[in-house]
Amino acid sequence: MRNHVQVAVIGGGVVGASVLYHLTKAGWKDVLLIERAELTSGSTWHAAGGMHTVNGDPNVAKLQQYTINLYKEIEQISGQSCGVHITGGIMLAGTPERLDWLKMAKARGRYLGMDLELISVAEAKKLFPLMEEKHFVGAMYDPIEGHVDPYGVTHAYAKSAQVGGAEIVRQTRVVDTKQRPDGSWDVITDKGNVHAEHVVNAGGLWAREVGRMVGIELPILAMEHQYLITDDLPEFKGQQEQLHCIDFEGEIYMRQERGGMLMGTYERAGVPWSPHTTPWDFGQDLLPNDLERIAPSLEVGFQHFPRLESAGIKKIVNGPFTFAPDGNPLIGPVRGLKNYWVACGVMAGFSQGGGVGLALSQWMVNGDPGADIWGMDVARYGDWATLAYTNAKVRENYSRRFRIRFPNEELPAGRPLRTTPIYEKLAAENAVFGDYCGLEHALWFAPKGTEPREEVTFRRSNAHAHVAAECRAVRDSVGLLEISNYGKFEVTGPRAAEWLGQVMANRVPAIGRMVLSPMLNDAGRLIGDFTIARLSEERFFVVGTYAAEVFYRRWFERTLPPAGVTVRPCAMEYTGLSVAGPQARELLQPLVADDLSTKAFPFMSFRKIDVGMVPALVGRVSFTGDIGYEMWVTSDYQRALYDLLVKAGARFGLRHLGGRALNALRLEKSFGTWAREYRPIYGPYEAGLGRFVDLKKPEFAGRAAAEAEKASGGVRRLITLDVDARDADAIGDEPIYHAGKVVGWVTSGGYGHTVGKSLAMGYVSKDVADATGDFGVELMGEVRGAVRLAEPAFDPAGTRMRA
Ligand SMILES: Cc1cc2nc3c(=O)[nH]c(=O)nc-3n(C[C@H](O)[C@H](O)[C@H](O)COP(=O)(O)OP(=O)(O)OC[C@H]3O[C@@H](n4cnc5c(N)ncnc54)[C@H](O)[C@@H]3O)c2cc1C
Repeated sequence: MRNHVQVAVIGGGVVGASVLYHLTKAGWKDVLLIERAELTSGSTWHAAGGMHTVNGDPNVAKLQQYTINLYKEIEQISGQSCGVHITGGIMLAGTPERLDWLKMAKARGRYLGMDLELISVAEAKKLFPLMEEKHFVGAMYDPIEGHVDPYGVTHAYAKSAQVGGAEIVRQTRVVDTKQRPDGSWDVITDKGNVHAEHVVNAGGLWAREVGRMVGIELPILAMEHQYLITDDLPEFKGQQEQLHCIDFEGEIYMRQERGGMLMGTYERAGVPWSPHTTPWDFGQDLLPNDLERIAPSLEVGFQHFPRLESAGIKKIVNGPFTFAPDGNPLIGPVRGLKNYWVACGVMAGFSQGGGVGLALSQWMVNGDPGADIWGMDVARYGDWATLAYTNAKVRENYSRRFRIRFPNEELPAGRPLRTTPIYEKLAAENAVFGDYCGLEHALWFAPKGTEPREEVTFRRSNAHAHVAAECRAVRDSVGLLEISNYGKFEVTGPRAAEWLGQVMANRVPAIGRMVLSPMLNDAGRLIGDFTIARLSEERFFVVGTYAAEVFYRRWFERTLPPAGVTVRPCAMEYTGLSVAGPQARELLQPLVADDLSTKAFPFMSFRKIDVGMVPALVGRVSFTGDIGYEMWVTSDYQRALYDLLVKAGARFGLRHLGGRALNALRLEKSFGTWAREYRPIYGPYEAGLGRFVDLKKPEFAGRAAAEAEKASGGVRRLITLDVDARDADAIGDEPIYHAGKVVGWVTSGGYGHTVGKSLAMGYVSKDVADATGDFGVELMGEVRGAVRLAEPAFDPAGTRMRA
C-alpha cells in the first residue's frame, strides 16, 4: 500500500469503484481504494442488478442514462464483462392516476432525449405475456432498461481504474481518519497508515460508521430488501429474454434470471436493518427470509401474473442496502471538513453509480460537479435529519417506493417535528400544514368547521377556491403570512461588507437598505439568491432558502477570510411574519412610532423597528408583489407579534395566507425561486437576474463568466407562459414546445388566481425566447397551447410594491 496518495477512497462497492475509476479518468492517478474485505462485500454483491433511466428528478435521470451508457466503456478498458442485458422494460399502470403519472414521465423524457412510449394493455401483453390484462389500464415501454452483473460491473470499474494508475488494497479496514492542521488526512488502517490529501467515504452499509470517525452522523439507514427467483419456466426456453417489468399496484419489479423470473418488492411493512450500528463482521452474508412480510405484495403479484404462482421458488435473497430520507444519494464535500467527501446512500448503484462517480470526481478535480446534482448533494440535509428522523422517513420512503407522490402531497412520517411558536394558533385557524426541512408551515387555510385536509391529485385540488380567496385578500386588502421557513444569516465584522461584495454578485447595500443578489460560482452559474439587508456599517442580515443553508455555509466557509467577518446562521432564532396588500401600511402604521410612508420608509428599506412592544427587524418588501412588510423577530416574540397583527388587522378583514397562495402570487409577478428557476445549471442573465449583477464592481466570484454570459446572452432564457390549461396546471418538469418542437422545460407553475391565468415559468432556447405565440406545454399527455407573457401578469411596472 502506498503511504501517501492524493485520494483515499474508503469502500470497494460499486460506488467506491466508480469514484476511483472516474478520478483516474479525470486525471488524478495517485488514488487508492481501501476495502475491508473483498470488492462488493457490502450491499453490492447480492443486488438484483436492475437498471432504469426513469427518475422523478430529471437531473438524476440524466446521470442514470450516463451510467447505463458507461458499461461499454469500462468493459473495453478492463476486459471485464459487466454482464449487460438490455432487455427493455415496461411499467404497468393499474389506475388512471398511475397512467397520468406515466404520461408525465413520458413527457419529461422528451427533453431528456429518452425514447419512452405509452402503449395499450394489449400491446403490453404482447411484450410481456405473463401479465393478466384485466388488472391494468395502460403501460409505458422503455427500450433502455435491463440488468447487469454486480460483480462484473464493480470489477470492471476497479480494473479500469487500475489501468488508469489507481491502487486497490483488499482485506484492509480503515479504523480511523484523522485530519492534520493543513487539511490533509491520516487514514489509519489495520494494515498501516496512509497520508491522503483527500478522503472519500464510499462505505455503503458502513458509511455511517466511517462518518462517525470524523464526528458526522450521515442521514442514511439500511433497509432489508427481498427478492425471489422462481424455478425455470419451460415456456421461456428458446425465447428472447423477458422484459423488465414494474407493476406499481403490486409494488413488484421483475426480470428474467436465467430460466426463471426474479421478483422483488418494496413492501409496505419494510424493516430497517441495524438501525444504529452496522456490525463490522457482516460480509457477504444474507439475512433470514421473511416471506410473510412480502406476502401481501406476492398475493397481488400472483393475481397479476398468475403463471408465477405455480412456478415454484428456487431461491430467496434478503439483503440490506442504504437509503437517505428522500431516497436519493448523498454526495459531495462535507461542510466544515476540508477535503472530506462522501458518496453514499446510493440505493440504485447500477443505475446511478456511474453518475455519482462522474459528479464527485468532477467536483474534486474541477471544484464543480459539472451537472445539476442539487437533488443528490449531501448539503441538502442539516442537523435536523437525526438518526430517528432518518429512520422514520426512510421507512416511509421505502414503503412508498412504487406509490405515486402527488405534487400536492405531504407525507406524514416524522411529523410534526419542528414548529414555530404560533403553530397552535395557525392550527386553530384551520391551517393545512406542510413539512419543509422538518419544519411545519401553513400551506393554506381550510374554512372553519371543515377538516383541514387536501385531497391529493395531479389536478386542481379542494384547496383551489380557498387559495384563490387568500390571493384575492392580498390584492384587495391585506393578508398575513408566516415567513419563518427561510435561511437567515447574521454577517458581522469590519470586513463583512468587503466579503459580501466578493461573494455576492450585486452591490452591497447602504445602511438601512436591502438588495436582492444572486451568488455565483466561478463558472458564473447561480448557486444562491439572497436578500441582503444592512443594519449598520458592520452588521448585515442575509435571507435565503432554508433548504440550502448547509449548501450556502459550505460555500461561505470556502470564501471567508481568516479574520474580520463572522457568518452566523440564525434560521430558527428568528421567526417571521409578513403583512402584504394595499392596506398593509394602514394596518402596521398605528403599531409603530416610525413613519412608514413611502417617503420615509421606501421600498427595499430595512430597519430595526419596535412593533408594539416587539423589537423587530422590518423590511419594506414582499414576495407577493404587493406593498408589504416582512418582520423578523426572535422566536420568543413571535406570538406577541402575531396577536398584535391579527388584532390590528381585524378592521381590514385581515386574512391568513399560506405557501400555496404565496406561490400563486409570485408566479403572477414572474418572481423565480431557488431550486426551481434558480439552480446551478443556469446563469444570471438566462434567469432574468441580470439587473442584480453589478458588473461595475471590479471583482466578485463568477464575474468574468457573468460578463461573458451577458455578452453572449447564454443559451437559454427564463420565460413565463400563460397556458390554456383545463383542470390541471403545470407543476414543473413538463416539456415546453414551440412550433411543435420541444424547446425547453417548465420549472414551476400554478394558477394565477387574481389574474385568471394558468401560469408556467420555464427555460427555453434563447432563439425562441422572444416569440409570443405558438408555444405549448404538455399537461397530462396533452399539449396545451400557451402564450409567452412579455411582462409579469400582475403589475408589470411594479408600482404596487413600491407604492
Ligand atoms: C437485495 C438487493 C437487491 C438490490 N437490487 C438492486 C438493483 O436491482 N439495482 C440497483 O441498482 N441496485 C440494487 N440494490 C442496491 C445496490 O446494491 C446498492 O445501490 C449498491 O450496492 C451500493 O453500493 P455501495 O458501494 O454504496 O455500498 P456497498 O456495496 O455497501 O459497499 C461498501 C463497501 O465499503 C467497504 N467498507 C466499508 N467500511 C469500510 C472501512 N472502514 N474500511 C474499508 N472498507 C470499508 C465494505 O466492505 C463494502 O465493500 C439492491 C440491494 C439489495 C440488498
